[in-house]
Formats: sequence, structure tokens, C-alpha cells
Amino acid sequence: TQAFLARIKQHQSLNCFISVTEELALQAANLADGRIAKGDASLLMGIPIAQKDIFCTQGVKTSCGSKMLDNFIAPYNATVVEKLNAAGAVMLGKLNMDEFAMGSSNETSHYGAVKNPWQTDLVPGGSSGGSAAAVAARLAICATGTDTGGSIRQPAAHCGITGLKPTYGRVSRYGMIAYASSLDQGGPMARSAEDTAALMQAMAGFDEKDSTSVDLPVPDYQAGLNAELKGLKIGLPKEFFGDGLNGNVATVIDQAINEYQKLGATVKEVSMPNLKLAIPAYYVIAPAECSANLSRFDGVRFGYRCTNPQDLTDLYTRSRGESFGKEVKRRILMGTYALSAGYYDAYYIKAQQIRRLISDDFKNALADVDVIMGPVAPSTAFGIGEKIGNPIEMYLSDIYTIAINLAGLPAMSIPAGFAEGKPVGLQVIGNYFAEDRLLNIAHQFQ
Ligand code: GLN
Repeated sequence: TQAFLARIKQHQSLNCFISVTEELALQAANLADGRIAKGDASLLMGIPIAQKDIFCTQGVKTSCGSKMLDNFIAPYNATVVEKLNAAGAVMLGKLNMDEFAMGSSNETSHYGAVKNPWQTDLVPGGSSGGSAAAVAARLAICATGTDTGGSIRQPAAHCGITGLKPTYGRVSRYGMIAYASSLDQGGPMARSAEDTAALMQAMAGFDEKDSTSVDLPVPDYQAGLNAELKGLKIGLPKEFFGDGLNGNVATVIDQAINEYQKLGATVKEVSMPNLKLAIPAYYVIAPAECSANLSRFDGVRFGYRCTNPQDLTDLYTRSRGESFGKEVKRRILMGTYALSAGYYDAYYIKAQQIRRLISDDFKNALADVDVIMGPVAPSTAFGIGEKIGNPIEMYLSDIYTIAINLAGLPAMSIPAGFAEGKPVGLQVIGNYFAEDRLLNIAHQFQ
């Protein structure tokens, strides 16, 4: 823990952490030492980790990357935080992220951009950019992230680490500040599949405090890591390999798929005709849900309050106007518009119908194959400042990840190699609750 705390100080310029909880970390490490001395050698005991600043941590600032929550001290722990504390993991601090998890580059954070440790003029990806960069720079052994449309997988890919977006309902959302509740899912980020499995083991499981949490037993994720891949059927959606995919990234993905064939897998082309509708559907559904979720930040109950409000409306409008960033405001406006009377049927209902078509595409494809593989992102990490002025281009960074959230499926990003000297992630998408299979597939590649 001390070594990691020192390393965090040394690499402050990467801007991975919003808060470093040094004192709490040293206390937790001492406690873990005591438990180890008593013979408790469970996997995460005493392991220094860090939490995305979207998870509520009792007594510790929980900002969600926003000025709105810059003064917010959470009064309770998220279930994920409780579980990791109970497993003996030592929290080093809270990680930088895009404001309210809206972004693909970590540039929308109130606390400034995170730098990609591989090349510091590049973005780490987002919204879990602080998590991915911290793990890649060895500032924590592993980290938590959340993924609404790609926010675990895309930064994992851009920083050359492993990330798992679990099945919707597998990891409790209690105490995880909501962005788009029907899409949000917390998950583990680490250097290897083995470490990812260890973190996932502690994070997963039913929680009665989350009404969408699924009551199914959690398998032993370590136990299946070494299973052979002979006979594994891989589906390759032709829509993942068309125009828009950078040629050098495509080469790395092809090589990775070849490796799997050498390990005994077979490949088959599959088609997902509705995939092209994923981004437009997501950018109706996610902002719609965000506009409802973020209405709780009103200057009365949580966080930022403007000075000298003249009346209630002034209090609401100035508190929100002065503390939400540009991207968050854009989402609230889009969502409010899509949900308003007269537009609801034309946008929101249509988007929900498309969501079903996309789920059916996956269902049909996964009836024939065990997993689907493809790229995580269309290119490698882009430059800081390169896309932030162009929301549409930024939204297209998630073209291969967003559909998976609409379907609620689990998917992983596995470090697959390098293109132009920058990390490339291979995406592996599985059937519902097949996280164990995904971890096994990732481990065999590593
Ligand atoms: N980039 C997407 C968005 O801004 C996804 C973010 C996420 O997964 N939290 O909505």
C-alpha cells in the first residue's frame, strides 16, 4: 500500500485520482495485515485497489467527476464498495472519470483530462479513464469501472488492460450514481484475466437493495480459467469489420482471432443487421434516462448550491446551470426533448423498439456460436482535444460497444496487441451470465 501511495504521488501528472485516501488506505492495510496474520489468505486480502468516483464511499468525497458533487461526502457505501472492503481489498482512492460517466475520453471531467500512460498526449478513453490509466500505470493493482455504453471496455482497450462489463443485473448498482439505469453496469478492470476474475468474484452477486439485481449463484471464476478452448465457436459479425474500422486495428484483431483458431476454436461469419441503429437508439434512451436521473441534483438535496437564490426557480436553474458541464447539459436537453409529449412516440418508443431488434440480433447470432468477437473501438486512442469539439465523432467511438449494453449482455476487452505503437483491445461478447466463459477465453489468450 505504501509503495502504491508513493507511486500515485510520483505520477500525479497523469491525473488519474480525484481523491487519494491515504489515511484510510493505511488503516485498511493494517487491518488486512491482522487478518492475514490470523490465517486469512483470501485473494483480495490487502490488495491495493481504487474505486471509480461514481461509487459512493461513506465519509469520502464522491464527485462523479462533476462540480455538482464536488462537496458531496457520501453517507453510505455502494454495495460494490462494501463487498470489496469485506474481501480485504485496500482502497487507495477515488478515480477520475467523465462527468456523470458521460463521455468516451475522460475530457468531460470537472477535474480535467486523464492522460494515457502509454503516450501522455492521448486520451485514456472513457468514461472509466482514470481506472484504466491507473491500472496501466501501476498506480493500483486493479480498479472498478462502470459501463453504460462502453465505459469499461473502451478505456481498457486504449490503455492495454483487461476489462469486463458484466451481464446487466450481475453486479449491484446500489450506491453507484445513476446515469442511464437500464444500461449501467459496474465491473472489474485489471492487468490480466486472472486478476479481473478475482475482482469480479468479490463484486458479483444478488443484492436485495437493487431491484434489477439477479438472484443467481455466482460461479467460481478462478476455477474455469484453464479450461481448453477446443471446439469453441466464434461468431464474427460482418458489421464489425466494415468501413470505419482502422486497417491497423483490423490486422491486430485478425491476428488475435487466428490465435484462437490455433487453440482449437472455429470461426463463422454472423450477421447483425440492426447494429447500425445502436448509436441512434442509445443516444435517445441514455439521455432520456439521464434527464430523469439527474433531476435529483437540484441544489436542495445534494451538492452544489448557487449563492443568494432569489426564489426556488432561481435556485434550481443557477445551481444546475453553474455546476453541470457542457456534455451533461447536452444530454439533459436531448433526453428531456425525447421524453416530452408529442415527441415521446416518435423518439423514445421507436428507440425502445430498435433496442428489442438489436437484442434479437444477438440472440439469433448466439444461438449458433458460443461467443462473438470483434474490435472494442474503431481506432486506437486519439489525441487529447482531438474529438471533444465534435460530439458526433466522439459518440462514434462506441460504435462496437453500445449495442451490447442495449442487449444487457456481458463482454470483455482483452489486450490484443499494438497498432501504431498504441494498445488495441479485442472484444469478446458472451451469452447472459457467461462471464466465467469470457474470463476463461481471455486467460487462454494471455
Ligand atoms: N460514451 C458513452 C456515453 O457517453 C458511454 C459512456 C459509458 O459507458 N458510461 O454515453
